[in-house]
Amino acid sequence: MKQNFAIVGLGRFGGSICRTLIESGQEVLAIDNNEDRVNEYMNIATHAVVANAQDEMTLRSLGIRNFDHVIVAIGEDIQASILVTLMVKEMGVPSVVAKAQNSYHARVLEKIGADRVVHPERDMGIRIAHNLVSKNILDYLELSDDFSLVEIRVANPKFFNKSLLELNFRQRFGLTVVAIRRSNGEVVVSPDANEFVRENDNLLVIGETDDVDVLDEKMNM
Ligand code: ATP
Repeated sequence: MKQNFAIVGLGRFGGSICRTLIESGQEVLAIDNNEDRVNEYMNIATHAVVANAQDEMTLRSLGIRNFDHVIVAIGEDIQASILVTLMVKEMGVPSVVAKAQNSYHARVLEKIGADRVVHPERDMGIRIAHNLVSKNILDYLELSDDFSLVEIRVANPKFFNKSLLELNFRQRFGLTVVAIRRSNGEVVVSPDANEFVRENDNLLVIGETDDVDVLDEKMNM
């Protein structure tokens, strides 16, 4: 379903959201107070405007209240990020995603009603660190303090050519396999217990981070 998005701030973060949304066929209004940035997105976004989003009248005249999603991608100017988030929530936008610079900023954004607060630099740092310390963990997404979703390479021959049932995966590791990525690129989503694990497969597993660490150790044995 086509939804409409407004992005405030066309830095690297806001800009990449804009490009990806457009590529997936969505309508995007791109806003920045820097004319050069707006010119860069003139032929990419559905509409691109030079505007100071801290100005309430400007936001109203852009019809921000009618958007399904607003992404507040202002980084350095924390005051602007907070004010814009507050105003768009007050205007009744149902889904507001705000980028936080640090944990204090994140707490304020949550308090004033941001529906989702993201920390792209911190999260990417965590993902890369996990990938560096384990040669089998290819990707890592922290879902909460205790839970994560990881993509892990099947490196231990004891796992090869066995079904999830034979491996007793859920009981043994306390983890759920949400998908298997085969070496030919095929992805088996929500595999049933009889699905086989093969050499060079990657497993996408979800569960407690401690259990993921145990699985990672097992892969190295
Ligand atoms: P990134 O890491 O995404 O590149 P950043 O964290 O360095 O960006 P900034 O460069 O501070 O973030 O802000 C992103 C964009 O937001 C900039 O292009 C800036 O011009 C724009 N911006 C900042 N304040 C406002 C505002 N009040 N109204 C509209 N745009 C704004």
